Amino acid sequence: MQKLINLGCKLNQYEGYCLLEALNGVADLVIVNTCCVTREAELNSHKKFRQALRNFPDATIVATGCACRIDPESYAKATYLIDNVDRNAAIKDILPKPDRTRYFLKVQDGCDMKCSYCIVAKVRATVESRSMNEIEQEIKWALSLDYKEIVLVGANIGLYGKDIDSSLDELLKALNRIPNCPRIRLSSIEPFFITSRLVETMKEISACRHFHIPIQSADNTILRKMNRSYDRRHLEKVIRLIKENFEDVAIGADVIVGFPGEDQKEFANTYQFIREQPLTHLHVFPYSPRRGTDAFKLNDPVPKKEKKDRLWQLKELIKQKNFEFRRRLFDKKFQVAIEYKNRECLGLTDNYVKVHLDEQCPRNELVEVVIDGVTEDLTHARRCT
Ligand code: SF4
Repeated sequence: MQKLINLGCKLNQYEGYCLLEALNGVADLVIVNTCCVTREAELNSHKKFRQALRNFPDATIVATGCACRIDPESYAKATYLIDNVDRNAAIKDILPKPDRTRYFLKVQDGCDMKCSYCIVAKVRATVESRSMNEIEQEIKWALSLDYKEIVLVGANIGLYGKDIDSSLDELLKALNRIPNCPRIRLSSIEPFFITSRLVETMKEISACRHFHIPIQSADNTILRKMNRSYDRRHLEKVIRLIKENFEDVAIGADVIVGFPGEDQKEFANTYQFIREQPLTHLHVFPYSPRRGTDAFKLNDPVPKKEKKDRLWQLKELIKQKNFEFRRRLFDKKFQVAIEYKNRECLGLTDNYVKVHLDEQCPRNELVEVVIDGVTEDLTHARRCT
């Protein structure tokens, strides 16, 4: 049994997912990934933690996330209490030999960008990049465990190197020099860090053709209120740059709906942008106020029902766009590393399509597959002979 109780913002959710992936080999596991975005979220985090202790007395209970950081005493009964900063070191303790194909490697922590809805700059304000040497050592370790893909993660990976006179671009080039380095995938990256230089480097090192961009909105008024330092035109430029450089690229985005004051016209601007742009995946979040952020002071909340409706509209839209994207991949070949979930044979393409295979391929082997079936719900592939 593996259970992830994920609370809070997109970043937190993502990290919870990463941790679950990394701890895949632990048989009886409950991860409570806490959040302190509001007082309510803090209380809820602690409630979920107590429930986990009560309901799963024999499981390995891992408590992590922002609420643990500000109030570790309340989570002292966890089997493992993992601080966000030392997450990788802790994972090694819990799981000496993980067996998934993707290794989530944290390259930096912290963000000082001060987006108005985000608490990260308050709880993880200092940008701390890990040295290239340390990262290289960890990749070699992951390689020795036969991982097939490295996913670079962090609070804001575009800021990598800011504090150590380096950059994400340099890091990618350095990683590419590691003999037999597995393929590299970027996790979420802010639109202002997607430059022609970065794109060139990703091409050069054959990084995964997959971008996940937290655009949050495509309406200039809302973007200004969010204190995001780009506008709609910049987003268009970035997406064009990506499309021009990578065939069949997957472009995902995060969007917040119902930011204070977001009216129908502003939401329609975002909706129209997503409809027109070649986006393939979307994570949509209803705005939730967080005490301590600048946005908390903003008036004009959007009613809950309206937020729910906007979320639904975007989800329906992306479902269709994702289906069309996968349909265009029919008959194309990809390399995937084989994983099993509930005895089902699966593989992930570099452009972020999960394929299902009938054949029982050897676990963790890299195989070439051809996509031979696409439905709204899944993508099917067969091994190339
Ligand atoms: S870029 Fe903005 S939203 Fe992202 S972590 Fe930094 S402050 Fe938060």
